[in-house]
Amino acid sequence: MTDRTATKPINIGGLIIGGGNPIAVQSMTNTDTRDVAGTVRQIKELEEAGCELIRVAVLDMEAAQALRDIRRQINIPLAADIHFDYRLALAALDAGVNKLRLNPGNIGEKDRIMQVVKKAKERGVPIRIGVNGGSLEKRFHGKPVGESMAMSALDHIKILEDLDFGNILVSMKSSSVPETIRAYRIIAESRDYPLHVGITEPGGVFSGGIKSAAGIGAILAMGMGDTIRVSLTGSPADEIRYCKEILKAMELRRFGPEIVSCPTCGRTAIDLIGLAARVEDAVKDKKTPMKISIMGCSVNGPGEAASADVGITGGKGRGAVYRKGIVVATLPEEELFDRIMREIDLYVSEH
Ligand code: SF4
Repeated sequence: MTDRTATKPINIGGLIIGGGNPIAVQSMTNTDTRDVAGTVRQIKELEEAGCELIRVAVLDMEAAQALRDIRRQINIPLAADIHFDYRLALAALDAGVNKLRLNPGNIGEKDRIMQVVKKAKERGVPIRIGVNGGSLEKRFHGKPVGESMAMSALDHIKILEDLDFGNILVSMKSSSVPETIRAYRIIAESRDYPLHVGITEPGGVFSGGIKSAAGIGAILAMGMGDTIRVSLTGSPADEIRYCKEILKAMELRRFGPEIVSCPTCGRTAIDLIGLAARVEDAVKDKKTPMKISIMGCSVNGPGEAASADVGITGGKGRGAVYRKGIVVATLPEEELFDRIMREIDLYVSEH
C-alpha cells in the first residue's frame, strides 16, 4: 500500500481524523432533523453498523435547536450540515455539535463569517469545507470540474486561514470519478488538512457502490483520504457497509470477517455459490476480524486456506475444512456449512 499523505490531526468530539489515524467511516442521516426521535433512532442503527461520525442536515432554526437533544442521545460525533445561513451555524455550535460542514464563501458578509469562526474556535469545533461539483460558483461554469472544485476549495480555505482558523477538513465531490481524483490531488499538494473523500450522487446501491469503490479506492491507493463517506440513493446503513468493505479491500482497516471465495468454474463439483452466500449472510453481523476462504477445488483452495483463519476447499460432492491451513475434517457437501460455522464460532470465541 502507498504511504499515506501526511495530514494534520483534527479532533472531532474525541474522534481524531488525519495525522495517520485510522480512516474514519461516516454517513449522513436521511431523516428530518427536526424529528429528534426518528433521527436518533437512525443514528443508533448506524452506530451499530459501524458509523463513526454522523452528519445531519440543518435546514432551519427548529432543526438547529433539535441538535442539542440529538447530541445528548448519541455516542458518536455529530456534524451539522449548513448552507448559506450563518445563524444556523451559530445555533448548531450552541447546541454542542462537534463539527460544521459549511463553506464560508457561501454565508455572505465577513462579519457573519467572523462570528461563526470565533464561536467555532472557542468551542474547538472544526469546519469541513465541502465543495460539490454540482454547485460550483458561476465563475467556474464551463471550466474543468476537478480543477474548479480545487480552486473553489482553496478560496474557502483562504477565508478561514485569513481569520487564523486552521481547524479545517476538506472535501471535493463530483459525480465524475476522474474529476474528483484530480481535485484531491491538487489540494493534497497544497495543504495538509485532512481529506474527507467521497463520490457524490453516484447512483443507487449497486452502481453507486461500484462507482464509489472505484473513486474512493483510487484516491486511497494514492495515499490520500482520512475519512470516507459512500453516498448512495439508498439506506445510510448500506453506505456504512460499502465504506467498511472499501477500507477492508484496501487493507487499511479490518472490520469483521473477510470472505475470499472463488468465482467457480467447470472444476467446481459442489454448490459453492450457495455455500458462500450462506456463510456470507451468517457472518455479516460478526465483529471479529478474520479471513474465511470458500474455494471450489484444490487448484487454489489449499493456497487460500493457508492464509485464512478458516476455510473450505470443495471436492466431488464433498469438501475439506481447514483451520489455519490445516485440514481438520473432510465431509460430505451437506455437512460443510454447519462445520465451517462451528469453526468460525470457535475462532470468534478464542479471539
Ligand atoms: S478454485 Fe478451483 S473451482 Fe474455484 S475457480 Fe479456481 S479452479 Fe475453479
